[in-house]
Amino acid sequence: MTTRVWDYLAEYETERGDLLDAVETVFNSGQLVLGASLRGFESEFAAYHGVGHCVGLDNGTNAIKLGLQALGVGPGDEVITVSNTAAPTVVAIDGTGATPVFVDVREDDFLMDTGQVEAAITERTKCLMPVHLYGQCVDMAPLTALAEKHGLALLEDCAQAHGARQNGTIAGSTGDAAAFSFYPTKVLGAYGDGGATLASDETVAAKLRRLRYYGMEERYYTVETPAHNSRLDEVQAEILRRKLKRLDAYTAGRRAVAQRYVDALGDTELKLPKTVPGNEHVYYVYVVRHPRRDEILERLKTYDIHLNISYPWPVHTMTGFAHLGYEKGSLPVTEKLAGEIFSLPMYPALSPDLQDKVIHAVREVLSTL
Ligand SMILES: *Cc1c(COP(=O)(O)O)cnc(C)c1O
Repeated sequence: MTTRVWDYLAEYETERGDLLDAVETVFNSGQLVLGASLRGFESEFAAYHGVGHCVGLDNGTNAIKLGLQALGVGPGDEVITVSNTAAPTVVAIDGTGATPVFVDVREDDFLMDTGQVEAAITERTKCLMPVHLYGQCVDMAPLTALAEKHGLALLEDCAQAHGARQNGTIAGSTGDAAAFSFYPTKVLGAYGDGGATLASDETVAAKLRRLRYYGMEERYYTVETPAHNSRLDEVQAEILRRKLKRLDAYTAGRRAVAQRYVDALGDTELKLPKTVPGNEHVYYVYVVRHPRRDEILERLKTYDIHLNISYPWPVHTMTGFAHLGYEKGSLPVTEKLAGEIFSLPMYPALSPDLQDKVIHAVREVLSTL
């Protein structure tokens, strides 16, 4: 059987009874959209973060886009973020009509180099958007200080960092808003698409609720400002409620997998991920580094191991963002990393046998390079 970086079937086998009961609960509820499961999930997810409001949305891309719009970001504004991220981070900014502005990342931990942010601020800058990449938090203290000093909004892209912490503070509770994806592979994943945005301010949350519902107050059938439909499905909301109860256990499973990689590969030439002091990593993906990455991946295929790269193309080098005008070489660390990184299999239900197969193959490939 081919080994891949992620697989949900082992989890489904274990949780089948509870997941099917979630579906049955919704089907029996008499309300298939904007019902009790969504309300329940929203209040439980907000409480998990100690944040006032949660608005369930159809996916993580819209969670970012509508989050930005609810914070007042629109055409003519600039949003400072990174190019070393999943493309939807930037697609979402583009979707508001604002312009993404990139700073580079740090070589050690792949995270936003917050030291470069102030120089990127212009009079059009409206929002800072750190991406808590791969499962650990960007340094938030310098960003909150800059946001305050320059009067900017702060939105956390938490799509990869459910339950991650920094100096004890949970990801998503520091910014004015925080966007989450529940795409199946994520640390908290639905059985389909899903997303949510947290907001501390009730006005922002109310705006988010209108933005997901054609621009209407839910019970009043009149549109103030036209918007689209971006609701979180009731079935996915109920599944997410069940899985939220197990989130800390999933994370413990991911950390155990990560520790086994350290124990078994720590003495090789592979650069393993570094956790920034003060951070509690949730290992959404397990990204390692080697200058001969392409050869390694090619040789692993002969062991029937097919691994991913998160991400092979920095967003600023994609043709769809050529109009932003970033030359090759403009974000040197991001560009260098893209040529050297790859991801080892990582999910809580990864069996020790399967992990051993990967470890064994990687060690063998490294020894024959
Ligand atoms: C997954 C992801 C998104 C997009 O979420 P979808 O639910 O797939 O739309 C946005 N940002 C980051 C960093 C992601 O990893």
